[in-house]
Parts: sequence; structure tokens; C-alpha cells
Amino acid sequence: MQVLVINSGSSSIKYQLLDPDSGAVVASGQVSRIGEPVAPGAPTVEHHSDGRTLEHDGAVPDHATGLRIVFDLFARGGHDLTTAGLTAVGHRVVHGGEVFYRPTLIDDAVVRSIDELSSLAPLHNPANVTGIESARALLPDVPQVAVFDTAFFHGLPDAAKTYAIDAKVAAAHGIRRYGFHGTSHEYVSGRAAELLDRDPAELNQIVFHLGNGASASAIRGGRAVDTTMGLTPLEGLVMGTRSGDLDPGIVPHLARTANMDIDAIDNLLNRDSGIKGLSGVNDFRELFGLIETGDAAARLAYDVYVHRLRRYLGAYLVELGRVDAITFTAGVGENNARVRADALAGLERFGIAVDPARNEAKDRAARYISPPEAEVPVLVVPTNEELAIARAAARLVG
Ligand code: ADP
Repeated sequence: MQVLVINSGSSSIKYQLLDPDSGAVVASGQVSRIGEPVAPGAPTVEHHSDGRTLEHDGAVPDHATGLRIVFDLFARGGHDLTTAGLTAVGHRVVHGGEVFYRPTLIDDAVVRSIDELSSLAPLHNPANVTGIESARALLPDVPQVAVFDTAFFHGLPDAAKTYAIDAKVAAAHGIRRYGFHGTSHEYVSGRAAELLDRDPAELNQIVFHLGNGASASAIRGGRAVDTTMGLTPLEGLVMGTRSGDLDPGIVPHLARTANMDIDAIDNLLNRDSGIKGLSGVNDFRELFGLIETGDAAARLAYDVYVHRLRRYLGAYLVELGRVDAITFTAGVGENNARVRADALAGLERFGIAVDPARNEAKDRAARYISPPEAEVPVLVVPTNEELAIARAAARLVG
């Protein structure tokens, strides 16, 4: 069995061809800078297959062209997708709204519904739709499945998903907390249960997905009961370029006093805030480079980041009452030992501790980082959204 997984963003397409059973990746790659001007000869598509990297140079005007180039690179690498007998194509779709809460076989009506949800995710859903349409045109006979980032949080308890605003306004405009990164939170909490050798139905878990985007979730018995992201992926933790939680009064204040229109404020909060807004860089490796030079702004950015993590850790400890695992995942969560140690420092009286040698071990596998005798297991589990999407798609098409 082989599933092609497509994650289509506003100016990029990431993809993997993989076996959903074994998780073996046959080929993978990325189209970058779609619709942007690029210098002649600049690589815009990178395709990895059988230990080789094939590249395509030059501008990629749109997603359909990008995917056609990818299919050509697959064929050049010896994997003709049009004759490969793919089991399915799995598409990551960011916003499923109230409509979609499980992997869904794509037809024209589903594409229309995903497109209609664009008002809730204007940066993401239109790009997802473009990716789906391009893939359907190239592989008309292969079942295509949408897997939604919001699905795992669809059943959040009312108290956790409801914003305390005029209920009629909220209902008229779909305003509630949806949550994102759900595929990752679900996959990682499932892997954590495997590592603990326990039934997920018995476990209370906290998962920190810390990448460029970042979110935390509280999970009781395999079901999400809270998460940090909300109507959009802007709420909650401090992120690479997003602010996370704010006093909502900041928005009208900026409109009135800084004369910023709504798009400028949206841009500020999504692209020029977070670690980048405070320090000038959004990548954690660069942030730590600056901290080492004694850069005070970088240090403050880090402190604000950790402060927010700990605030949600405290909230979720209380919400869950008993916690059976705390798990870190994604780029920062998997690779940055200092963030993990600082997030959990001084919590021994809650049964929470990080073992320095385990935490700092250069190990890529899912593993414990708490001391053997600790009451609450603390884990690092590499996320694998592509595999989770491939498995969901393969399960659905049977
Ligand atoms: P995205 O949300 O874009 O998928 P990632 O999960 O790849 O993001 O996370 C990106 C972040 O992870 C960056 O801040 C980067 O510095 C950090 N990161 C990735 N790999 C490493 C590493 N090996 N060591 C330290 N930090 C890393």
C-alpha cells in the first residue's frame, strides 16, 4: 500500500509518499515560493527519493504547476504516480469548522464545504482547496481523503470551547474554540500510551506541540478536553511569529491609536509577533545564538515563551486533576532540552521532574526524560503527521 500525503500551504506544498502500515517513506519533498518571483536558477522544488535529491529550478506560478512538476520528479525518480496504483491521497486540511470531524472522502460537495470554511481560516483553507483540486485533476481515479487539523478537538466540552461573548453573535459567525494541530496531538498521545504500555482510555495526558506554531492540549481518556488554540491558530502559546494570548482590547487600541487597519493588525499578530516580534528572529536556534551573545531582547522573548508554557501547564494540571504523562513534540519540543527543563523546573512536589542526562541525550526515538522514580512520566515523542494522515486515509478507503 502507498499513500501520497499532501500538505498544501499558501506558498508551498509539502508531500510524502509512504506505506501507511510500516511508515516507510518512499519519497518526499517540498515546493517552495509558489506564486513568488524567484531568481533564474533558484531551486523551488526539492524531491528526495531513494537517497537522491532531484531539484527543479525557477518560478512556480501556481499550485497546479507545482504539483505537475512534483509528478514529473516522481517519474524521473522511478515512481510514476499515475500508474502506481496508489491506495489514496491524504490531504491535510486546516479548518473543518463544525462540519468535519473525521477523515472525509473528498467529492465536489466536500471541496465546496472546505472552501466555504475559508472565512475561518483565510490563510489556510484556500491553499488546501487548491492542493486538493490539483491532485484530483492529476489522479482522477485515486480516492482523495481530507484529514482535518481541528477534528481531534471537535468534542471539546462546552465550557472549554465557548467564548464568553454575546451568544447570538458567536452562533451567527461560528465563533467558538476549534483547536489545531489535532492530528499531531492525537498521534503523539497515542504513541505516548504505547510507550507507557497503557490503554489510552485510562490516561490523562498533557501534550506540548512546540514547532513554529505551538499548542498544548489536555487529554482525558483519549479525548481532548482542552487546547490552547481557538477560533484560529493565533490563540494560546507564544509562537515563532504569532503572539498567542493577548488582551483583545489591544486590537481596538491599535486601530484607534496606531491608525492600523484590520489587515495590518492581523499581519502584526500572525507574522510579526511572538518570538520574532520580541527578538527579531523566529527560529529557536537563532534565538539561542542571540541569548548566548547576551542579547536582552532574545532573553526576554525566551522568558515570555516559557512563562506562557508554564501557565498552561498549571491550568491543565488542575483541569485534569491527575496527570499520567506530559509529552513534548515538534521541532522545539523534540530538539530543545532547555525548553523542556525550564518548562517543568521546580515542580517536584507535583511529582514532575526532568532527568538532565535523559533530557539532553541526543536520541531521535520516543523516550522518557523523567527520572525512573518520577511519579509523572515526562516524554519526548517525535510527531509524524504525514503517517497519521496516511493511516487515516488508508483506513477510510478500506
Ligand atoms: P513547523 O511548525 O513549521 O512544522 P517545526 O516543528 O519544524 O515547525 O519547528 C521549527 C522550530 O524547531 C524552529 O524554531 C527550529 O529552530 C526548531 N528546531 C528544529 N530542529 C531543531 C534542532 N535540531 N535543534 C533545535 N531546534 C530545532
